[in-house]
Amino acid sequence: MGDPKGFMTTPRQEWPRRPVEERVRDWNEVYVPGALLPIISKQADRCMDCGIPFCHEACPLGNLIPEWNDLVSREDWRAAADRLHATNNFPEFTGRLCPAPCEAGCVLAINQPAVTIKNVECAIADRAWEEGFAPPRPPERLSGKTVAVIGSGPAGLAAAQQLTRVGHTVAVYERDDRPGGLMRYGIPEFKMEKHHLERRLEQMLDEGTKFRTSTVVGRDVGAAELKSRYDAVVIATGARAWRELPVPGRDLTGVHQAMEYLPLSNRVRQGDLETSPLSAAGRHVVIIGGGDTGADCLGTAVREGAASVTQLDIYALPGAQRDEDTEPWPTYPVRVYRLSAAHEEAGDLRTAPVADADARLFAASTLRLDGDREGHVRSLHLVEVDARRRPVDGTGRTLPADLVLLALGFTGPDREDGLVDQLGLDMDPRGTIARDPGFATNVPGVFAAGDAGRGQSLIVWAIAEGRAVAAAVDHHLTGSSRLPTPIGPYDRPMAV
Ligand SMILES: Cc1cc2nc3c(=O)[nH]c(=O)nc-3n(C[C@H](O)[C@H](O)[C@H](O)COP(=O)(O)OP(=O)(O)OC[C@H]3O[C@@H](n4cnc5c(N)ncnc54)[C@H](O)[C@@H]3O)c2cc1C
Ligand code: SF4
Repeated sequence: MGDPKGFMTTPRQEWPRRPVEERVRDWNEVYVPGALLPIISKQADRCMDCGIPFCHEACPLGNLIPEWNDLVSREDWRAAADRLHATNNFPEFTGRLCPAPCEAGCVLAINQPAVTIKNVECAIADRAWEEGFAPPRPPERLSGKTVAVIGSGPAGLAAAQQLTRVGHTVAVYERDDRPGGLMRYGIPEFKMEKHHLERRLEQMLDEGTKFRTSTVVGRDVGAAELKSRYDAVVIATGARAWRELPVPGRDLTGVHQAMEYLPLSNRVRQGDLETSPLSAAGRHVVIIGGGDTGADCLGTAVREGAASVTQLDIYALPGAQRDEDTEPWPTYPVRVYRLSAAHEEAGDLRTAPVADADARLFAASTLRLDGDREGHVRSLHLVEVDARRRPVDGTGRTLPADLVLLALGFTGPDREDGLVDQLGLDMDPRGTIARDPGFATNVPGVFAAGDAGRGQSLIVWAIAEGRAVAAAVDHHLTGSSRLPTPIGPYDRPMAV
């Protein structure tokens, strides 16, 4: 650590966001460009080098956080980039998108604001690209073994990069026309501009990974045929089977799933469409679901020029601080009030006709949707619920709604492509692909990683799964492996 008193003398300072009025008029990332680098070495100095770094334990990748905090505080960017890439294939993704469970576990966070670990990670990753510290690393020799990776989200990309780098010939099959999974067509530009994704994909191409886009395995190419052509197969198809809202009016026009809405907006940004057929422009929007997917819909609807936007959360308004009994340090507190960039924007612009906080109504349960004579949704009826989700008398309320977005989460892999059935894969009771402790499915030579096996999760877990499944596949193909295994398939976040 550069300054042993840094944590006492330097207050926490985050990468500043651009003013709300400015950023909602474009789709660029919300942060002030160039404003992170000048502050980050002092912030890294706040790391206490505490001896037992719970941040490292809380990060599913096992990122070597105290080590790179020290290197950044000394401005040794090359060494910091090496230490960061030793555990994370894509730190510019997690540096922007991770909810940072590491910061919840930071020892300094016991009685002070945590070190801005995620910002440090992002600064190292961006600096590494600027300085050329992240060149392609093609293998020195080829193994002669072939691997098909199905799905190009963070899990598939991490698995493919690890396997390519140790010499296997890897082809990534992707249903969409461009690789990236949810980072391409789910997550909006204002959270991560797509050029970060393009740059990594170019690096992977230069290393020798092949991409077969617009190819649905199970439909365009049979899953069994694919298996017979490759020495091993990794299924990293995500968990896209969405939850439904079983209320009267669900079938009205204007009621859509978040993952029907967000990809269209992303396609406009990619230049595929002039405007989104589901654009929120001029419409009263209600988003049902209080999670991150709902927040992404919120930020998108605001930028599209919605007349009003409200987000409904079934849970009660959480407190500002973690509940030390149920979610004590160093666990990641789920039930704590967080103001995402999208919520800050919606709050400042007062997008919701009525709200408990920013644009959100808490403890809100949807009773029904009403439509006009043409069958288009026009209003949403809700009621406040108690902790056991029982309606509270006299709390009924009606909101104007001509675009309703369902962001209720996902139950497991989408089965419509036939992939699971064609291979005869066993599923676990949660509806995800069953795996043994080595990420292997019941079909020899077929492995599963990411949300397809874990269930709906996070990018950091998907990258960790991709790295771990690569080690398992490498071992299967060669009898041993030097690749790291940061997590097992049954590992879960720290909990009490
Ligand atoms: C809207 C939204 C926002 C999110 N925001 C965040 C965030 O900010 N931070 C965070 O950490 N996490 C976030 N998440 C969660 C995160 O994106 C996922 O946990 C992560 O992407 C899972 O990675 P994956 O590789 O397992 O699957 P995915 O990213 O879902 O990728 C799976 C890929 O497989 C392809 N595929 C599926 N079936 C086939 C087939 N039969 N043939 C060929 N290809 C196929 C799909 O097209 C897709 O490209 C978000 C999720 C959503 C829905
Ligand atoms: S990947 Fe996430 S948990 Fe790990 S160091 Fe980065 S921000 Fe923290």
